[in-house]
Amino acid sequence: MKKVAFYTLGCKVNQYETEAMAELFENSGYEITSFDEYADVYVINTCTVTNLGDRKSRQMIRRAKKKNKHSFVAVVGCYAQTAPEEISQIEGVNLIIGTKDRSRIVEYIEQLKEEDQQINAVEDIMKVTEFEDMKVNTYKERTRAFLKIQEGCNQFCSYCIIPYARGPVRSRRPEDIIEEVKQLAQNGFKEIVFAGIHVASYGKDLKDTNLMDIIQRVHDIDGIERIRLSSIEPTTISQEFVDMAKRLPKLCPHYHISLQSGCDETLKRMNRKYTTQEYREVVERLRVNFPDVSITTDIMVGFPGETEEEFDKSLKFAEEIGFSKIHVFKYSPRKGTPSAMYPNQVPAEEKEKRSKQMIEVSNRSERNFYKKFLNRDMDVLFEQPVKDKKDYYEGLTANYIRVYACSKENIEGMIRKTVLREIVEGGMEGELGTLQKNCPLL
Ligand code: SF4
Repeated sequence: MKKVAFYTLGCKVNQYETEAMAELFENSGYEITSFDEYADVYVINTCTVTNLGDRKSRQMIRRAKKKNKHSFVAVVGCYAQTAPEEISQIEGVNLIIGTKDRSRIVEYIEQLKEEDQQINAVEDIMKVTEFEDMKVNTYKERTRAFLKIQEGCNQFCSYCIIPYARGPVRSRRPEDIIEEVKQLAQNGFKEIVFAGIHVASYGKDLKDTNLMDIIQRVHDIDGIERIRLSSIEPTTISQEFVDMAKRLPKLCPHYHISLQSGCDETLKRMNRKYTTQEYREVVERLRVNFPDVSITTDIMVGFPGETEEEFDKSLKFAEEIGFSKIHVFKYSPRKGTPSAMYPNQVPAEEKEKRSKQMIEVSNRSERNFYKKFLNRDMDVLFEQPVKDKKDYYEGLTANYIRVYACSKENIEGMIRKTVLREIVEGGMEGELGTLQKNCPLL
């Protein structure tokens, strides 16, 4: 049997697309194998968000050819989209596909067998207007499914290469989303995570639908108990959005709202389209309406021209908001983006120092968030057993607290009331049961 191996870099969207390509190969009679094994086809699904992504992608290309010099090596995804010429020069690359036409990958491999000549299938992504439907029918996980609803971004933040790698906003048709979610519900999935490059833009290119509409339609599907948004923009969380969310108990009170900087001058240079005051108002609106809401974010440190004073503002703002988690990134210039040419680039050691300070704020506020839930009973969707720990399971609350609890019964895929007892590394330790009726094991 022919074998194919995948190596995926980058985000959840890329992982989703790898799953979809793997299914296409399986349907054509291929067996999926590990990237360290001998295979007939190696697919590297690349990322280009940081320079590190590019370097790692190149390393994996070379590693694949070493495993089997007669294999076909396909380089696909964001790095392939932005640098096809560079990739075509790397020895051993047979096929290059960007962020479009990955659904044709098997077809291209068949063509390679006939022609034995490198194929560069990368097209100008800025001209693409259709969402490429790549369905995933089988998932490794059985409880939470990531569902790609959207592609592309029209925001052009000054540091970001993504709009050039993924092209303009394209949304998946509501009928296709509903069909896939119904299928997932039938297969036992309880939670759907809406994923995309810029989820907040869902529907901007379609008539008669938008993000609120699709959330409501998925909410009506029996069997689905939770809907989570992978990320959202502050500008999306209007009073109207909050009023809708209050009517939809399945919509998780967990919002990942990208901040990037807590300083207005820096935000402006980043070409972000909100101010810190607007952001503050959004957080207040959510907290007034959903007292248990978890707000997580991304913050970049060391953006060009970020003075000590600007960074200080950013740090204080992060402290004031009290995020339940901050993903801290050190700015890294991307060739082809406006900010790569900005003056006053911040030295590496300064970025390192700022990153540490921001991570400390994140750790403190994460702990404060957890403290609010000590000795409270919460619904936990248990996803899987904890590795190497007998009778232990881990799962998530709707507001994204990772919970570990003991159970003799297999509780994988079940939502169970759990009392949160203790803050532990990466989450909280809980006991199955409620405050009235504690864990039957104890
Ligand atoms: S919103 Fe900004 S940071 Fe996010 S993908 Fe679009 S351009 Fe990049």
